[in-house]
Amino acid sequence: MADYYDTLEVTRGATQEEIKKAYRKQALKYHPDRNPGDPEAEKRFKDVSEAYEVLSDEKKRQIYDQYGKEALRGATAGAGHPGGFESMEDALRTFMGAFGGGGGESIFESLFGGAGEFGGARGGRQRQGASKRVNITISFEEAAKGVDKELAISNFITCATCGGKGSASSKGLKKCRRCGGQGQIYEQRGFFSMSMACPECHGEGQVITDPCTACHGQGVVKEKQHVKVHIPAGVDTGMRLKMSGYGDAGQGGGPAGDLYVFITVEQHDIFQREGNDIILDLPISFTEAAIGSKKDVPALHGRMCRITIPEGTQNGKTFRVKGEGIPNVHGQGHGDLLVKVFVETPTKLSDKQKELLQEFGESEGPSNLPKRKSFLDKIKDLFA
Ligand SMILES: [Zn+2]
Ligand SMILES: [Zn+2]
Repeated sequence: MADYYDTLEVTRGATQEEIKKAYRKQALKYHPDRNPGDPEAEKRFKDVSEAYEVLSDEKKRQIYDQYGKEALRGATAGAGHPGGFESMEDALRTFMGAFGGGGGESIFESLFGGAGEFGGARGGRQRQGASKRVNITISFEEAAKGVDKELAISNFITCATCGGKGSASSKGLKKCRRCGGQGQIYEQRGFFSMSMACPECHGEGQVITDPCTACHGQGVVKEKQHVKVHIPAGVDTGMRLKMSGYGDAGQGGGPAGDLYVFITVEQHDIFQREGNDIILDLPISFTEAAIGSKKDVPALHGRMCRITIPEGTQNGKTFRVKGEGIPNVHGQGHGDLLVKVFVETPTKLSDKQKELLQEFGESEGPSNLPKRKSFLDKIKDLFA
């Protein structure tokens, strides 16, 4: 195996934070769940875990820096990795340790502040399972009406074989000898006595000598689950729903993480949304605008609404249909439907039509064109 620093792709002066980050990145890439049956990935996973195990521990790192790998055989022996991670269990345990429970999906921890720890180090720690994120895209109409969806997610759930204990038998769980089951060890440094999580049992207070074969001693297994989620009417892009307890199972009796459903609403062909209002652009003819008309316009859920275009309607005028918008997501009332008209100039006129318009144009006076009149007045003022 190569140099530990090279394996993690960090410099010799890397901080603990950089080492942890580098390990997380590589461990996720080579994790056996992501690379089933790939011996090369398995080897890399063990290698990066071994490198991390040493470099994340300042004491071991110092020994390694000074004397090399050989010197560590004595220091790490005892728990089952005599200079090298022979077993996948060890590598997976390191992985779980570095991710604070959960596993591969817990990359979202920092986003949600999940994977908190409960209880003290004394006699086994409770860890909350990782929270997760799923993205869901729904149609404009579904957002307006509300919809039930079924999500397929893969979660870590409590291992049924061992009941989450991680050991195959009750005798397989032994009190940690290094810390006497306290989960913490104390070190004298000058005048101070410092306590730290026991490196032997990672603060659990007990070690698994007979790991459960179904979960490799992790106490959790990955399983595909189907979760029904009710999306309320009125949701919009960027909103998220929190489903408490639908994340990964907790460890050591800790609570499960949460599931966050992030919503994206598709664009509609004719409707646009602004808050809870719906905007509809309605083309009308020059004649309809001039002499007025009645129009049936589409609203949500296939309904039609009748609006009255009054005589002399100008381009860009907006008509409001009360309550035909999107319901408020918190259940308080509805938005409106805003119909914005644009007046189309007629094209491809026949000779007859041109003649009629010509005649009409000659009859047009200042009172027919209110905007032009005020425009001309302004120009007059400008040159006065
Ligand atoms: Zn198990
Ligand atoms: Zn211990």
